[in-house]
Amino acid sequence: MPSSPLPTRFAPAERVAEGELRQQATQWQQNQTLVLLANAVPDGILILNHYRQVVFANQAFLDIIDCPSQDSILGQRPGEILHCVHADIEPGGCGTSLLCQHCNATRAILNSLDGNQDVEEVLLERRDGLPPLNLRIWTTPLHNNGEDYTIFAIKDVHLEQENLTLMQSLQTLSITDPLTGLFNRRHLYHEAERETERAQRYQHPLAVFMIDIDHFKQVNDTHGHEAGDRVLSALANVMRASLRHSDLLARYGGEEFAVLLPEITAEKAHAAAQRLRADVEAMQIPFRGMNLQITISIGVSGMAPGESLSFENLLKQADDALYQAKQSGRNCVVMV
Ligand code: GH3
Ligand code: MG
Ligand code: MG
Repeated sequence: MPSSPLPTRFAPAERVAEGELRQQATQWQQNQTLVLLANAVPDGILILNHYRQVVFANQAFLDIIDCPSQDSILGQRPGEILHCVHADIEPGGCGTSLLCQHCNATRAILNSLDGNQDVEEVLLERRDGLPPLNLRIWTTPLHNNGEDYTIFAIKDVHLEQENLTLMQSLQTLSITDPLTGLFNRRHLYHEAERETERAQRYQHPLAVFMIDIDHFKQVNDTHGHEAGDRVLSALANVMRASLRHSDLLARYGGEEFAVLLPEITAEKAHAAAQRLRADVEAMQIPFRGMNLQITISIGVSGMAPGESLSFENLLKQADDALYQAKQSGRNCVVMV
């Protein structure tokens, strides 16, 4: 339980006397235009007095808290009404504990009482087993009859956040190969065309690998498709570990992979490909008590600064080099 004193700016624990509170509430509730407008908007609206007590609530707010009338919440503070877990750890209630200092809602209200508009996102943990609330809140200062008030508008953004998360995961799925977690071919083209144009414009080097597993069909034929899948994802892990974070790794198709390596000359790319090839050759892939081993062949192409090639060209050159690597006996790197 926090014991050190709160900053003086932090709103005091006292509340206005019952009679004064009634007067404040009546003054707002009798304003027909305010009531009409406040009940016409979909977001919850509260008007708070200087002590952050509710003196007015619109219908949308009452709907959020499932409360039939505003009378039962008059004089309370937003956190108390919303069942914030911290609302009653201090006798002064919501907004008077040290924990409240870290609450975006309290900050927004205090900013407003200082005369500034504010907007904050709040994740409110609630007591009594109630689900947390994900709210966006706006506060606007208001002066009326010599008193400071704040308009506290809240929107439940739970669904909005859920949709955003869903959209982000759909977007990730749409660019990822599910077996290896690498990018898929579509994303490779999308990014690589942009990256190739950028390299040309700024005269930077760029390299491309085409990689193919040697005799991969034998892995499937000897140990089954599941072993083949294990090999594919193990290879993806070695590629991630062996290549740079800025390299774009993609599963091009079946057991073929393409890598785009920005800012690297063909010579350095050749050395990186040799390292990767050796790392793969040294890899042991555990599968049902066995250790599987594979090798890969790599074709490398590059664009020197000032050169002008399309990504399509670079990929074709890397693919031709890969073909030569296969012809030369596999488990090797060929650069065009
Ligand atoms: P090479 O050295 O000439 O490349 O020989 P290879 O056996 O690797 O080439 P081939 O094209 O004959 O065989 C590729 C195999 O890759 C055939 C196919 O069944 C397998 N394959 C493609 N995609 C997958 C996959 O997602 N999972 C598994 N397990 N196998 C796959
Ligand atoms: Mg192949
Ligand atoms: Mg192959």
